[in-house]
Amino acid sequence: MKVFKFGGASVKDAEGVKNLARVLQITEVKDVVVVVSAMGKMTNALEQVVHDYFNDLSAFKESKQHFISFHHSILNNLFATTSHPVYEAVNNLAIELSKFLDNNKSKDHAFVYDQVVSYGELTSTTILSHYLSEIGVNNTLLDVRNFIVTNDTYREAMVDWDVTQQRIVSKVSEKGITITQGFLGAEGKHNFTTTLGREGSDYTAAIFAYCLNAESVTIWKDVPGVLNADPRHFAQTTLLNQISYREAIELAFYGASVIHPKTLQPLQRKEIPLYVKSFMNPLDQGTCVGKGVTLDPMVSCFILKKNQVLISLSSLDFNFMMEHHIGDVFKWLHTYKMKVELIQNSAISFSVCVDNKYNTLEPLLAKLRSAFKVSWNENVTLYTIRHASPKQVKAILKDKTLLVKQESRGTVQLVVKE
Ligand code: ADP
Ligand code: ASP
Ligand code: MG
Repeated sequence: MKVFKFGGASVKDAEGVKNLARVLQITEVKDVVVVVSAMGKMTNALEQVVHDYFNDLSAFKESKQHFISFHHSILNNLFATTSHPVYEAVNNLAIELSKFLDNNKSKDHAFVYDQVVSYGELTSTTILSHYLSEIGVNNTLLDVRNFIVTNDTYREAMVDWDVTQQRIVSKVSEKGITITQGFLGAEGKHNFTTTLGREGSDYTAAIFAYCLNAESVTIWKDVPGVLNADPRHFAQTTLLNQISYREAIELAFYGASVIHPKTLQPLQRKEIPLYVKSFMNPLDQGTCVGKGVTLDPMVSCFILKKNQVLISLSSLDFNFMMEHHIGDVFKWLHTYKMKVELIQNSAISFSVCVDNKYNTLEPLLAKLRSAFKVSWNENVTLYTIRHASPKQVKAILKDKTLLVKQESRGTVQLVVKE
């Protein structure tokens, strides 16, 4: 059996849903678990709902309505009559969401976030399953929350592999077409919904593939495969035909957003190949991540992360930055959920480039100021280049101010102000 993953871009409208069915037909796949994300930008739309729920009740009704109307217009384009049972199924999900928000007493933002944001995937898979049935493609819709068990770290939940594997192996059929949600899980005690981190549907696909010993995983994308740079930021890109697991892990770790970083380790452990292919041209080769050559063709790869923060610390009394100081820094970075992208230290200073994903810069800076002299730059860009030549590094630095450069085997990282 195989695992397919369709991201938000592949199901951003009714045409996307029809195209997904076309991909299943063209690839002639019979036994497959199909992992699906929320449609288009619906996860962002639900993040807005959560934001308004906590901060701006006057806008809240409208943001919730946007989510509902978006799916209704897709339904109207997919089904001939509003008496089709899919309308009731989708309405019921919207009612469930409203009930949760009406009754909720929790002030825990991350908990509420996961309960709300999950409706993106719950709705997309309900629509897809009904649509496939409607056109005569038999399928089973599974609620992934009955299978993927996690801890209660809402928004970044960690998978309990033993329980998850046991549930998937005993209850998920390897035959036929199974549709399920990416990104979601449930914590083991009360079954509250959790999420695996933004863009986590790739990881869901890897979890199913690992547990079911799948023949392969295919991630269907709006690009021909993994390119050596993000085409949104680089005019010239090259398609990578083959990438080793090791190299792909490095690329994903440094932020090549085409593959979620947690996806590769479970696949590598069982040597399950990962294909990244175009949902518009499903029979094209795309990229294969697997055992074998590091990169084919052997080219430099560029990863760009915007809106980073560079924080520089030095000791208040010109003392050396010793382990216990650095230990405190890491403890606080962890407390404020800062994603560390790069660190550099010297005798009396310590610099760290972080992604302020959860808007916690202010409280972190306050904490750091209690122990260090602190300076920082917001809105810096981090370039990571794998297998770079000096000429390429020079070209990137043109017209930019270099703040930090770090070089290790195979990787150059540049923190710059554009
Ligand atoms: P999904 O719908 O599967 O979540 P995303 O929109 O998250 O898809 O990811 C696809 C996008 O990733 C592409 O449109 C492309 O702009 C971007 N991207 C970033 N880095 C790369 C890369 N190295 N190769 C291909 N695409 C990349
Ligand atoms: N829908 C989630 C997100 O947009 C998960 C995913 O698409 O992988 O982050
Ligand atoms: Mg995505």
